Parts: sequence; structure tokens; C-alpha cells
Amino acid sequence: MKKNIFTAAQDAVLPDEELGLINRHTLRDLTRDEVFCFTLTLCDNRVDRDMERFDVAALHKLAELFDGRTGIADHSMKSEDQMARIYKTWVEEDPAERTMNGEPYTCLKAKAYMPVTEETKEKIAQIKSGIKKETSVSCSVSAVRCSICGSNWKEGACRHRKGRVYDGKVCHGVLTDPTDAYEWSFVAVPAQRSAGVTKSLTLAEAKTTVGADEEETVTLTLDAFKGLTACAERFRQSLVDEVIRSGLLALPDLGKAALEELCGGLTEEQLDRLGKSFRHTAAERFPLRPQLSGESGRDPKTNHEFII
Ligand SMILES: [Zn+2]
Repeated sequence: MKKNIFTAAQDAVLPDEELGLINRHTLRDLTRDEVFCFTLTLCDNRVDRDMERFDVAALHKLAELFDGRTGIADHSMKSEDQMARIYKTWVEEDPAERTMNGEPYTCLKAKAYMPVTEETKEKIAQIKSGIKKETSVSCSVSAVRCSICGSNWKEGACRHRKGRVYDGKVCHGVLTDPTDAYEWSFVAVPAQRSAGVTKSLTLAEAKTTVGADEEETVTLTLDAFKGLTACAERFRQSLVDEVIRSGLLALPDLGKAALEELCGGLTEEQLDRLGKSFRHTAAERFPLRPQLSGESGRDPKTNHEFII
């Protein structure tokens, strides 16, 4: 997966200790003048636009994994686009800022260096000028856990959906136990936050996000949901009972079992229409007449029925 974050890159004054760290990765020892260094934020524990966040333990693991990784432009695999290498990583906490789930804001920071050459001049100028760029990291994690029930979405969907609220908590994916860090890159900041994000979903993840784009969604507590489904069940049963009752009157030869089977495949609307049609037919077969309505065909003026 790839994760993007906005970062402010900056110039740095290079201590001896850091030059030593850089030279672990070089064929020959570089001097202070030959390298350009900058600090960047790789990822953090905020819920991102994919409704996912890293847990703090994952950030510490990624700190180990990202040390020494090369940075490339726009996730390009071409070696000439590899322009910087991370030589130091650390996890930083800001207790003043709380994330959505109440944790102190925690991020993975890194220091990277670039050799100063003709080819890298332009990139260095861009970073120095303070153009805000987005950093994107590419890594793999062994589990994406549901923030509500903790089930691993990589193994299958649970009943919670990303972005929905359950008991006042927004459901999101918690990225845990990173297994590998592939690379990091600078990408130009897209005009729209959602534009240009490349991320493939596994089937399990896709299942959990179905419906996330619906314009209006309503979130119910489990009790309210159970109440509603029970109400719908009762309504359907009352329609079925009515179809069977009037069906037996309209078409007695059909039998109760056949009517029950027929009802099983019908929608509530179809049941309603069928019930009306059966009632109509039944009324023709067995007209409902009050006891005192008088028999048809007799002369109402004679009142013979009332002569004892
Ligand atoms: Zn869940």
C-alpha cells in the first residue's frame, strides 16, 4: 500500500555525526559540501483520507524499516529517479495534539540526503524554496484491523464499514505490524486531495468499503437495527397471512402449501397487489352480505321475508 502525507521539507545544518550516518551508504566518504539534507515526515497516526491509520507500534517498526531506503519521484521505478536516501529515522510525539481516537499525535520523521550534482540541482532548489510536497510511502502490513471490533480485514470483512459511526466512534482501518518498507517518494501536491492516489484494495478491504460513497448513509445502533428488521418481518408476515387467507377463498383448489410457496418469492409490494386481487376475486365468489340485506330477486315492496 501507499500512504501519502503532506510534509514541509527544509534545509539542515549537518552535524558530524549525521555525516557519518550518510557515509554508511556511500561508496566514498562525502564531504559536507557534497550533500544536501532535509527532514521529512513519512507517516503518522492520524486517520487518513482512506479512513486508515497506523498504530504507534507500526510507526516504530517503520522507523527501522525505512532507514536506508531510497526516495524516488512519483513512485517511479526508474533508477535515475532515485534521488535521495534516508539516513536517520525517529518517531516524534506531540502530546498537545490529539488524534480522532484520543492518542497523542505521533509521526515518523526521517532525514534524507541527496548528492549535490547537476542533475539534482533543480530538485534541491524546489525543496529549498519550501514548496510543500507530499511524501508518499509504500509499505506492506500484516494486518488491517477494524477499529471497532479488531478483526483483520485482510482475512475477511466484518459487519462494520469504514467511515460509519458505531456508538459515537468512526470505523476505520488500523494498519498494524508492518512487514516491509519499499520506498518513499515526493509527489506533486494534487489539486484535489483525493486525486492521484494510487492504492490497490484486496477483496476483503473492498467489501468493507462498499457503500462508503453513497450520498446519504444512516448509522443505527444494533438495537435500533434489530427493532427495524423485526418490524419489517411483522409487516411482511401480515401481508403473507392476508394473501393466504384471501387466496384460499378465491382459489380454494390451490391449497395453503402452494400459496405459502408462492408468497416466498414475492416482494412486499407484489404481496400487497396479489392480496388485493385475491380479495377482489373472493368477493365475487362469496359476496359478503349482511343477514338482513334481503335475498336478491325478490320484490322489496312485498316484505315477504318479514311475514311470519
Ligand atoms: Zn468490525
